[in-house]
This record gives sequence, C-alpha cells and structure tokens, in this order.
Amino acid sequence: MSRLTIVMYHYVRPLARTRFPAIKGLDTAAFDEQLAYVQRHYTVIDISQLIAALDGGEPLPLRPALLSFDDGVMDHYTYAFPRLAARGMKAVFFPPASVAIDRKLLDVNRVHYILASGADLGAIVTYIDARCTDVAAEWKLQPVAAYREQYWAANRFDPAPVIYVKRMLQHALPSRLRAMLAAELFGRYVSSDETAFAEELYMSVDHLRVMATAGMNIGSHGDAHHWLGRMDRSGQQKDILSSLRLLEALGIEHDQYTMCYPYGDYNADTIDLLKASGFKAAFTTECDLANVTEAHRYTLARLDTNDLPKKADAAPNVWTERANA
Ligand SMILES: [Zn+2]
Repeated sequence: MSRLTIVMYHYVRPLARTRFPAIKGLDTAAFDEQLAYVQRHYTVIDISQLIAALDGGEPLPLRPALLSFDDGVMDHYTYAFPRLAARGMKAVFFPPASVAIDRKLLDVNRVHYILASGADLGAIVTYIDARCTDVAAEWKLQPVAAYREQYWAANRFDPAPVIYVKRMLQHALPSRLRAMLAAELFGRYVSSDETAFAEELYMSVDHLRVMATAGMNIGSHGDAHHWLGRMDRSGQQKDILSSLRLLEALGIEHDQYTMCYPYGDYNADTIDLLKASGFKAAFTTECDLANVTEAHRYTLARLDTNDLPKKADAAPNVWTERANA
C-alpha cells in the first residue's frame, strides 16, 4: 500500500513582521506555497481516516498526506488555521496541556527565543559554560569539556553551537539548574515578563475549541513537554495521564486519542502506557514516510516542512517521488 506522508510544522508566521524575525520558523508565504504544492501532489487526510486505516477499515486514498502542528503556538490559530480552512484541509495539532491550560512557558520555546534574540551565540555559550563552572561542585556537574565533547555536534537542522545550547538547556544539565540558566538568559535577552510572554505565545483552550469545532483534531503532546524516553515509567505515566486533561476539556473522542512524542523521544514504556490509556497512534520525529501498519502504529515517522518544496509549482522532490512509488 501507499505510504503516508506526515508533515511536521512548528512556528508558522510572517517572520519579517514579527518581533523575533530570526526565530527558526516557516514564513506564511512559504506555507501558502507548500499547501498549494501538497494539494497538487497529495490527498490530505485527517486523524479519523488514519485511525480507520490502522484499524483495518477504509484504506487511505492514493498519495495520502497528514499535516501536523506541534507545541500549541498561537501561529497555528492565527496563520495556519485560516489557510487550512480556506483550502478545506484538515490537520492535527499537538499542544502540551500545560501551555494551553496553565499558560507556562516551555523550555523548548524559551531556548528558541534566546537563540533568536539577536544575542551573540558565542556570548550565550560562554555564559552557560561560566555558570556551569561556578556551580559545578554544588550540582555535581561534569567538567565543561565533557559536555562539549558530548553535545557540540551539528544535526540536519542546526550548527554545533546551537545544538550545544539546546542540549545543555533541554536535558544535559539537572532539570532545576537548566531551568534556572534558561530563565536567566531569557530575562537577559528576551523578556522580563515570562507570564505575559507565554500568554501571547500559546493558544488557549478556547482557541483550541474553536479549531476542534471546525473539524481540526487535537492530540496529546504530553503535559509538560518532557523527554519521555529519559524518564522512569511512573514519571511518564504521570505526564501522559495529566496530558489527558486537555483532551477531556476539548471533548476529544477517546477513540481519536493520539500522541506526538515531545522531542520525538520515547521508549518501550511510553508505548506500553499509551496502549494502556487507549491511545490509537503516536508520532515520532524520525524523518521518513510513515508505514500505516499495526507494527508502526506508535512509531509513525514524519517529514519536516523543510523536507518538502515551498513552491506551488515545484517539480516533485524525492519524498514526493517516493510517495508515488
Ligand atoms: Zn514539541
């Protein structure tokens, strides 16, 4: 059968007209072009069609595509939702429960904004290293050189210093210390009012309800956007169950529950817990076309928006060719 192309989006906004134009996001003009490209080459499906196909019901149409939006940022309501609706496209949105309900700024977004603040990257690295050296004994840290050795490495999205800052502030350091350093850097370079910032950055439950009523699907992205695969089973269970408060508040049908792993991170415990809680499918950040089979139900691969052309009339690229195969 034909494989499913799942596209992953994060920030989508008119970058040049925003306060942080350096944020790594998709410009709305490019988003418009990509939606037109997707419409030319694919049939966009929704979550219920995916779940039906996984359950052995109605097979998917030819060259199916599913659009997914992570992290619950306001961009999705302001810029993506009206564009999707205008084209009659459905999509699935994955807001962490704590951002929609408690309006808490996530580490992941704090770090994105620090990096987009215009502050010198070298100065940010120096600040982190100096603070880690200062508090090394108190927090039982490794020497800075050991962190450098482990995390100073480019990936397909970011150069080495950016990955280093992200990994140090996202999981390498003890959680209370990294939260403290991220808050210090955020206060210094981005904003002194995190609460107001989060209020502006994220969709509320009411925004999500409007989208759900219009036929968009909302899935879980955890409660506090943790690296689930690095947590013990009971910690994972607590976060996953707590994330359900958002799906319940939105009245999402239990047989439509899906999970998108924060940071694409999960392990065998995560999958067991999802099965036990009645989740029907789960999405990773593995870059590939998804196999819509029982064996891959909780490990569905996704492409990043940058893996597909951002021109309506672009020739089919390698991923589109593969979807045709
Ligand atoms: Zn996320």
